[in-house]
Parts: sequence; structure tokens; C-alpha cells
Amino acid sequence: MQLYNSATHTKQEFVPNHPDLVKMYTCGPTVYHFAHIGNLRSYIMEDVLEKYLRYSGYQVKRVMNITDVGHLTSDADTGEDKMLKGAHREHKTVMQIAQYYTDAFFDDCKKLNIKRPDVVQPATGCIAEYIRIITKLLDTGYAYQAGGNVYFDTSKLKKYYIFNEHKEEDLAVGVREGVEEDTNKRSKNDFVLWFTKSKFEDQALKWDSPWGTGYPGWHIECSGISMKYLGEDLDIHCGGIDNAFPHHTNEIAQSESYLGHHWCNWWVHVMHLNTPEGKMSKSSGEFLTVSLLEKKGYDPLVYRLFCLQSHYRRTLLFTWENLDNARASYEKLVARIAALNPDDPSPVDEAAFTALREEFTAALDNDLATAQALTVLYDVLKSGAGDSTKLRALADFDTVLGLGLMDRAEKKRAADAAAKKNATTAGGFTVEGEGDPAVDEQVRLRAEAKKAKNFAEADRIRGELKAQGIEITDVPGGAVWKRV
Ligand code: AMP
Ligand code: ZN
Repeated sequence: MQLYNSATHTKQEFVPNHPDLVKMYTCGPTVYHFAHIGNLRSYIMEDVLEKYLRYSGYQVKRVMNITDVGHLTSDADTGEDKMLKGAHREHKTVMQIAQYYTDAFFDDCKKLNIKRPDVVQPATGCIAEYIRIITKLLDTGYAYQAGGNVYFDTSKLKKYYIFNEHKEEDLAVGVREGVEEDTNKRSKNDFVLWFTKSKFEDQALKWDSPWGTGYPGWHIECSGISMKYLGEDLDIHCGGIDNAFPHHTNEIAQSESYLGHHWCNWWVHVMHLNTPEGKMSKSSGEFLTVSLLEKKGYDPLVYRLFCLQSHYRRTLLFTWENLDNARASYEKLVARIAALNPDDPSPVDEAAFTALREEFTAALDNDLATAQALTVLYDVLKSGAGDSTKLRALADFDTVLGLGLMDRAEKKRAADAAAKKNATTAGGFTVEGEGDPAVDEQVRLRAEAKKAKNFAEADRIRGELKAQGIEITDVPGGAVWKRV
């Protein structure tokens, strides 16, 4: 598989460090509010990547942190504490809102068919890890204490900028204008590893450390959690593009200084979902959530399809009109699958299936080209293969795409059958026979003709069916038929 690596700025053939196991780390949500659908775009695309690696035969161990401490509103270690801000807003404790929004996040993931990572670790659960790393960074001269806090000293690095070659403005830098600078820093890129002096006197979560009671900075959590569960090397680290700088840049700085060697091979960044008004934000008032989509009558999987229709390395524009188009495509796709015969007794055509599978993997092997992978679904439907082969291929591909196609098609079949039955009963006429829709229809037409006193037509249909060896018997409220 060719997978784009932000650290080398190229697509590279993906090869994990260990032949069968892919170690994958994903920056998790900051749980001070609901995830917006922009956040969820990142998680959907990362989910497709994980599922495709598994589909390709790898075992994957995936780890995700939950940021429940240390993330300030400015990524430059200033501004307000996000968790505290959420707690104040809702008159709850930090831990209460962390629990509430963690659960809400995984509810959203479930609705979007996003698999839960193998390990989910709240940042507050690994304090000893961070202390161990920071202690070594201080011992080896990569960190310093100033004004009560511990900072990473970026001047000690040969290369600090990994992703953007000093062009911070190219990235969605979280540093807000107008926020006061931290004068304890020796240089502007230095970042906090451990806070003790802070203006958050009511910060509820504090831990003892060799540098005083305090709490960890935001970046150290991902290095600590990753190393705890995945060891000293990592195959893939993912996140949204805004995480590239400073968060991932700082993760690399501290991890590699701590380890004394290269740490992570692939950096995969998902570009943002924007609205016509610009960047989406959790911090500012109303924002788009999965619940809002549901409230407006959208199946959450329509949003998943919308995301898959474009490449993860392109900015995606959200409008309701664009979502409506995705809904129309989704419904059409489901209807076409529902029209296939799930009881098709013919055997799966293995050669046809393999050819379709090759098309599908060729698309995803090209840096996860999900839009092209979706067109393969239509190729399946158009192909000359039998229904059993088509259904096999669609179900197989959907283990990666996660669009719930089989489930929704089955539901549509059931709903259509129920609607048909209701329509028949509503007409005051039920047909019972051996389950042949074509015959049912003829029997119904005969009944209608009789009702309209068109006896010639009614007799004609009866005669026609008789010629096919079908006998109709009228019963109260309907008719039954059988082959004789
Ligand atoms: P947060 O909860 O703010 O820590 O962000 C969770 C994840 O969502 C991170 O990987 C972010 O990079 C990503 N993210 C934030 N905003 C967007 C957006 N508008 N589109 C796509 N991903 C985003
Ligand atoms: Zn992270």
C-alpha cells in the first residue's frame, strides 16, 4: 500500500516494523464538549485506514488517548484550560464532564461505524509515565525548569520542524493572536511538559511530582500513552491536520529525545472539514454534531459516505446541500442492493469476485483513495455476476468502508415487504399462494377487474393462470392460489 507520510512529504510503500503487526496511535478527543462532525471526519478516515490494514492481512494494535487534562485553548500553552472551561460551563466537575463527553464520543463513533480502538486511555491515568519521561528529559538536558513549570528545550534539537519546514502559516496553527506569551520560555517553540504555576487555581486535578504539585502539558500524554502500550517504536500516528503543529511536532521532539532514536515511521494527517463560514470549532457556540444530523433526519452513515466521497488529504466543504447529495447516493445504493436476491442459490463466482476485489484494493492501495473504492461498488452492481457474487463482494468491501450496506439493504427489503403487504390489505384484498410475486400480481389484477365489473378481463386472467397450471379460489377478503 502506498501511504502518504507527512514527515517525508511523499507517498511511500507501507511496511510495518514488525511483519505482521501494525502499531497505530491516534490522538483522541478533548472531552470538554461533544465532538463536531469535523473531528469525526478524522476518526472516520482513520477507521477506514485501520480496517483496510486489517483487510490487507495485518494485525493492528491501535491505541487512542482521551484528553481529559492539560489541553489549553491555545496550543501554545496559554489561554484557558479546556476541561475546566467545560466544567464551569456546565457546573460540573472536570471528571464528570470527561466521563459524559467520552461516552458521547463513543456513542457517535458507534453510529458512524467507527470501531473502538484496542486501547482507549484517558490522559489522567498515566501520570507516572509522564513523570518518568520528563525526569529523563531533565537529566539529559532536553528540559528545564522555569517559573515553577518544566519546559522542553527545543534549542537542543538538530531539527525541530518536521512537517512544515518553518512555514507555520501553512498549517492550521492553534496559536491564537492576542493571547499573552509565556515569558518563562527560553524560545518561542519551547513547550510545557509539566505545569505547577498556573492561573487555574481551581484546577481540580493535580498530582505530586518531583517539581511540585501540578499537572502534565498536553503533548506529553500522547508520547507517554503510546510508549506504554506500543513500546519504543510506532508504525503510524494519526490525527487531524491541526495536530501536526505544534502537537505532533512536539511529540516527536520529546519522544525521540527521550528514546535516543527514531520513533514513528508514518504520520497520517486528515485535512479539515470546513463550513462556508470557515473552520469548525467546539469552543464557539453552536456546532454540527451527529445528534444534530439525526435530528434533521439524516442517517449518520450518510455522513460517513459523504466523508468517503473525497480524499482524506483534501479539505472538505460541508453544506446541507452536499449532505443531501450524499443522502441521495446512499439511498440509491441501498435500494440497488436491496433489489438483489439474498437467497440466490447459485454459487459465488470466485474469479469474478477476485477481479472486483483487485479493483477495490487497487483504489485503497493508492493512499486510501476511498472515492475510487466507492466506484467499485457500482462496478459490482453493474457486473454480469450473479446476485450471490455481488452480495459477497459488497459485504466484503463494506467491512472496510463501514457503510452498513448489508444491514440497511436488509432493512429496506423488510420495509418494502411490509409496505406491500399493507398496501394489499389496505385494498381489502389479500393474496395467499406459494410466494410468487408475479402470480400474486395477476391474482390482484383479476380481483380489481371483478370489482370494476369487468368480468371479461377477470375471466381472461383466470384462464391465463389456468393455462400455467394455477388455480384460484376466492375466499372472504381475498383469494388463494395453488399450482395444480
Ligand atoms: P480535539 O478534540 O480538538 O482534540 O480534536 C480531535 C481530533 O479532530 C484531532 O485529531 C483534530 O486534529 C481533529 N480535528 C479538529 N478539527 C477538525 C476539522 N474541522 N476537520 C477534521 N478534523 C478535525
Ligand atoms: Zn496527541
